[in-house]
Amino acid sequence: MSDKILEIENLTVNFDGFKALNQLNFTMATGELRVIIGPNGAGKTTFLDVITGKVQPTEGQALFKGKNLRSRSEHQISRLGIGRKFQTPRVYLKLTPRENLDLSCNRHKNVFSTLLSRPSKPEQRTVAGLLETVGLTPKADIPAELLSHGEKQRLEIGMLVAQAPDLLLVDEPVAGLTDEETQNVGNLLLTLAESHSIIVIEHDMEFVRQIARQVTVLHQGAVLYEGSMEEVQQNRQVIEVYLGQPEDNNG
Ligand code: ADP
Ligand code: MG
Repeated sequence: MSDKILEIENLTVNFDGFKALNQLNFTMATGELRVIIGPNGAGKTTFLDVITGKVQPTEGQALFKGKNLRSRSEHQISRLGIGRKFQTPRVYLKLTPRENLDLSCNRHKNVFSTLLSRPSKPEQRTVAGLLETVGLTPKADIPAELLSHGEKQRLEIGMLVAQAPDLLLVDEPVAGLTDEETQNVGNLLLTLAESHSIIVIEHDMEFVRQIARQVTVLHQGAVLYEGSMEEVQQNRQVIEVYLGQPEDNNG
């Protein structure tokens, strides 16, 4: 067995002549928390689209736990153990956080049987534990529509974890959040990173500094640089990509 959870080789995605990903190579060890940054249009979302089977690569391959993801459907890939959280929360607003988590824990059952039947003891414990982990125990039984944006984001991260994926993909979790909510989401991801492999895509540099260990910088569909946050911030190519020009090259 491979200790790499993800191995990506020469991945190219060609949209009518435009290469959103261009010979991208990337590997990640099991248990890692990896942050991916890059300017708008760098290919970050497309990268997640390929890993989750939403977009088929034109060239190259993606291996998850040693298995080639080519030609597998989104559903099959999700069952292999890759869970994705999209940018906007997708919780059931009329249901409570507890009910939302119940549903995620019982994806194979239907909505009504989950809501109408009493959960068994171990399931109760799982949902209670998840509520605790995402910090929503005090709000477990109010409709989710009354939660703040940050609380909804945490709830949805909890719903993702409830499905017990081996790899969590999280796209821009703190966009539009207050500083305090951003910190809460960061702390939640750090807690989850103790027992999960996680890829976080993010723009907010303050947030990246809070959670980052290893950072991968994407640019024009390929990896521009990889290193610690400190190394990334000092790297000349990265600075040029983010600021447009090297700082001492203006006069
Ligand atoms: P990021 O998430 O880093 O901002 P994306 O992966 O969304 O970047 O997009 C990378 C590039 O690919 C962008 O220039 C975008 O316009 C283009 N792109 C994304 N999806 C499509 C598509 N379905 N058809 C054509 N071009 C696309
Ligand atoms: Mg994007």
